[in-house]
Amino acid sequence: MKNLRKTVVITSVVLVLAAMASITLVGVLLTSDIDQDSIELSNGENWFDDWYTVTRIDNQTFAIGEPRYWQKNYNYLIVGQSRALLFDTGPGVRDITKVTRSLTQLPVTVMSSHPHYDHIGNNFRFDRVAWVRVPSILSELTDDGFQPTFTRGFTLRTIPPFKISEWLQPEQEIDLGQRRLQIFHVPGHEEGSFALLDADRQQLFTGDFIYPGWLVAFSPTSDLHEYLRSVLYLISHTSGSETIYGAHAVAAHPSPVLPHSALEDLEELLEALNSGTAIPRQRFPMRVFTVNADMDLHLFPFQGP
Ligand SMILES: [Zn+2]
Repeated sequence: MKNLRKTVVITSVVLVLAAMASITLVGVLLTSDIDQDSIELSNGENWFDDWYTVTRIDNQTFAIGEPRYWQKNYNYLIVGQSRALLFDTGPGVRDITKVTRSLTQLPVTVMSSHPHYDHIGNNFRFDRVAWVRVPSILSELTDDGFQPTFTRGFTLRTIPPFKISEWLQPEQEIDLGQRRLQIFHVPGHEEGSFALLDADRQQLFTGDFIYPGWLVAFSPTSDLHEYLRSVLYLISHTSGSETIYGAHAVAAHPSPVLPHSALEDLEELLEALNSGTAIPRQRFPMRVFTVNADMDLHLFPFQGP
């Protein structure tokens, strides 16, 4: 009996140590950066330094890329006449302010598409941080500022908290001086997710709501019903000729840009998922659904709509 207890204790300790070692190994693998020489940049994209890239979308709109980061993040500097807005600040591996300072002399306000760790990593470096007042965001405010619980994610880095200096309303317009952006609240990938529309320039900035590669619908606050509602809402509030600028790219699709028709493809899959008729292309370890040639949507094996 004594020996049995001893064996159980030793086995448990070994299992716990093995689990901790594999979690650490996955963390180390996922935080190791991609070799710069192995990266092919997309058209018009240029290295700013050995980490960041800049793509000049037009004279007042820039994509600031981090293609060496395993999630290939893209952040957008949207410049008006009186101020600029930086939509997402990446995972915070490097200081992004030297890039923004090189592109505009105007004051820069940060707004993140949603509070996941890889979109808020440099927020603490900015005095002007705007956020949209929705319940899921308000619940994560602390005395030190804003520190969302989902900051660690698939990384070992800790994201510093940051103060919010400007509160916006869902559906509000942001005036950057001779340039206006419409905010859309688009829960689905995450409850507190926002897209921005520049109707004059036909630019739709979507964060993690839609981008080329694998869409995440399995985060703790993902919701497939909300995802469908939001995609219908975006389709009904856009003209159909916008270009979509997402927050990530993948090696097979190194540009984070999609045509507006990608929204209809996503709508079609979400309709099928919500009505139980979608068939996964793969079932384990994740359920993978094809959206179109540029995109998949990922769910946990037993996750329902
Ligand atoms: Zn996200």
